[in-house]
Amino acid sequence: MVLLLVIMAAGLVPLLILTKGAIWFYTENEKADLQKEVRSYSSIISNTINSTGFLNLQSVEDIQGNNSASSELDTIASVFGGRVIIVDGNFVIIKDTYNKETGNLCISSEVTKCLIEGSESILSNEGYVQIILPIRSKEESKNGAEPKTYISGVMILSYSEKTIDISAQRMARKMWTISTILMAVVVTFAIIGLMRIMGVFRKFRKALERLSEGYIDEKVEVNDFREFSAMSEAVNNMMNRLNQLEKSRQEFVSNVSHELKTPITSMKVLADSLTSQESVPAEVYREFMTDIANEIDRENKIITDLLSMVRMDKSADSLSVSKTNINELLEILLKRIRPIAKERNIEIIFESFRPVEAEVDDVKLAQAFSNLIENAVKYNQDDGWVRVSLNADHKFFYVKVADSGVGIPQDCQEHIFDRFYRVDKARSRETGGTGLGLAITRSVVLLHKGAIKVYSKEKEGTTFTVRIPLNYSK
Ligand code: ADP
Repeated sequence: MVLLLVIMAAGLVPLLILTKGAIWFYTENEKADLQKEVRSYSSIISNTINSTGFLNLQSVEDIQGNNSASSELDTIASVFGGRVIIVDGNFVIIKDTYNKETGNLCISSEVTKCLIEGSESILSNEGYVQIILPIRSKEESKNGAEPKTYISGVMILSYSEKTIDISAQRMARKMWTISTILMAVVVTFAIIGLMRIMGVFRKFRKALERLSEGYIDEKVEVNDFREFSAMSEAVNNMMNRLNQLEKSRQEFVSNVSHELKTPITSMKVLADSLTSQESVPAEVYREFMTDIANEIDRENKIITDLLSMVRMDKSADSLSVSKTNINELLEILLKRIRPIAKERNIEIIFESFRPVEAEVDDVKLAQAFSNLIENAVKYNQDDGWVRVSLNADHKFFYVKVADSGVGIPQDCQEHIFDRFYRVDKARSRETGGTGLGLAITRSVVLLHKGAIKVYSKEKEGTTFTVRIPLNYSK
């Protein structure tokens, strides 16, 4: 409703202003033209008066007797449909084409001013206009000198503007008729247009309601206007993204269930085989119980990794950032991992190019680097090496973890940061991997606004490079 009023106002107000303006402009123009026309007769009147010596005649009788000038003034007055009054230098009206005031005195201030100073004036009253103009005559030339001009009288030209007002009224009537028709057209179009737009809005709202009712696979297809098509496309893109998220959430849940079930299934098999046999020797019992304990450890590790990943998935607010010595952080990690590496005679080399201090969450970052270094040991060959290096520039610090291990096939490299992804499931299981380590590492690096990359060649080795800003910014 408000929209309808706005559209109508936008159409009608200019129309009203236009009509009013046109009528005003027409009236003013016509009045100015008429005034110009009347004034143009003043020089003819002056000439007539001067050439006939009209102002020098002594009595009214003489004047009336001077028919040529008198009748010429009558003709002029009738041409512009008005009245001509001639006042002589003694303020006496010597000619009135209406024959009403002849012989009377005329001493209005405008006439006096005009006679003395020669100033012109225009008076306007209720549609009647009076133009007061001086009549200039030339003195007799003496001794061939240039004759002087003087004001010998005053002419008053009066006319009525009523005819203009009448034709303006006629024109106004016509214009208002046209305007009313135009207004009706504008209003009709506004209503039709609005109803059409409202219809499209309703269609769009219905499509959105369907989505919110749960039919998220349906597409919003409202293509009636370009803007609505663009909005439909935006909604469809958003729904696609939500559907993808939903799909990956479902995949994740099914992966988690599967991963959690595997150790339980193993434990069940081990326990069943013990209970189904009679008089099992103590060593077999011990062996099976050790296997069950290993499966429990595995289950525990999966749950621990899952929990830390869920924590990483939260926003950057979950970081507790403090100034940390990165050299020390890596040294402590390596001290813990070296004994494990030693069991397979793997050498761990640490190269630090400079002392580095950075604003990081030390606990989370330690976990991220420890995943990388542990992987470098896990997926290495016996007697191999792992090289950890630390460098920095004025903005970032860089940690590189290189190994002489089995490497990662080219086509698997883009997946290794996915949750539960393992290149070789059997090997990862053997080494106690959950497939969550690199996903956690990447989350930590991204929370620190950093970047992680992998370069690897099968059977030659793998290098992970991590870049983290020295100063943390949200
Ligand atoms: P996992 O718990 O299985 O180690 P990760 O997420 O840490 O899970 O790693 C995912 C997979 O990437 C591993 O299963 C392994 O196949 C591969 N991978 C990770 N690091 C290395 C490495 N340094 N050398 C070779 N393969 C690696």
